Amino acid sequence: MEKILISSCFLGNRVRYDGADNLLTESVIQRWHLEQRLVVICPELSGGLSTPRAPAEIQNSIEIQVLTNLGEDVTSAFEQGAKAALRLCQLHNIRYALLKESSPSCGSTTIYDGSFNGKKIVGQGMTTRLLTANDIQVYSEKNIAALAAQIEKSPM
Ligand code: SF4
Repeated sequence: MEKILISSCFLGNRVRYDGADNLLTESVIQRWHLEQRLVVICPELSGGLSTPRAPAEIQNSIEIQVLTNLGEDVTSAFEQGAKAALRLCQLHNIRYALLKESSPSCGSTTIYDGSFNGKKIVGQGMTTRLLTANDIQVYSEKNIAALAAQIEKSPM
């Protein structure tokens, strides 16, 4: 069966930096959950961070760096989280991921610009970059239907 890596916050787990979740209520998520297709990860917790935590954004520098709004360098934790996500994908032969848009870990088309002013730019989070580089297709809450179509075509 085709498994899907999914952001933990999508399942209602309160793992966001602010202690909240990003629960998805689409019925297809519930179906995938019942089918035991979903492999759950919060890369930031897997990388050693805790909830709640200071918000962090990728900085617009040549060498990628992730800083909190207090200036703490959390790049290493984000890298560890990305590697943990990739290991899970490799363990379960996962080719598809459904990750939260705009997160510095999970974003797939946009991220915040590093200024902590709420401005988004085109870009990918650290986990998405690593998964994409390893031929794993990353979808977000904005294109669940496209992922569902892809899963429909996959052999059971
Ligand atoms: S790192 Fe990803 S899974 Fe964890 S809270 Fe942020 S968006 Fe959700």
